Amino acid sequence: MSSFSKIFNELVKGLSCFPGVGRRSAERMVFYILKMQPDQIKELAKKMEEIHNYIKPCKICNNFSTKDVCSICSSDKREKDIICVVEEPKDIMAIEKTSRYNGLYYCLLGSISPMEGIGGEDLNLRKLISRIEQGGVKEIVISTDPDHDGELTAQFVVQKLSKYNIKIYRIAIGIPLGAQIEYIDSATLGKAFLERKAVA
Ligand SMILES: [Zn+2]
Repeated sequence: MSSFSKIFNELVKGLSCFPGVGRRSAERMVFYILKMQPDQIKELAKKMEEIHNYIKPCKICNNFSTKDVCSICSSDKREKDIICVVEEPKDIMAIEKTSRYNGLYYCLLGSISPMEGIGGEDLNLRKLISRIEQGGVKEIVISTDPDHDGELTAQFVVQKLSKYNIKIYRIAIGIPLGAQIEYIDSATLGKAFLERKAVA
């Protein structure tokens, strides 16, 4: 058996890989774990394994799902002729919280990033384009982050979709430039949806 400090440090190192968790926070988490009941820990570990094993991308929109098609794409209560384009599944969660949008989504699973050498051609637009080509889509609302990479991504998506007979909107970001969709409060994000502007 390894020593306490070895196990402690390995767990601190493991937890430090989470976004926003530095070494000190990771240490506090480990001390907290030591105080938890064994059942609580087992349940937590089980949930972490479950989310990894059973969650997969929706084959239509790339949102997280336990089934081939996510609950939003398969709902008969959503407007099917409007698609909101986002960078990541967490942006879908943020937009859903606003209750200001009732259409469908398409998740790019990334954005253009010159710093990381990711260009427009690296974005996966194929499934979105085939949905548009199948007909029935009237409106696209581009909701990429209002930062440099998000704006480049929005411009690229507009360029790729402008030849189709659809309306293309960008959410009206009166929100501080450089913000990320997931951190914008629901009221502001909801307003940005209501006041979306036509870009093509
Ligand atoms: Zn879906």
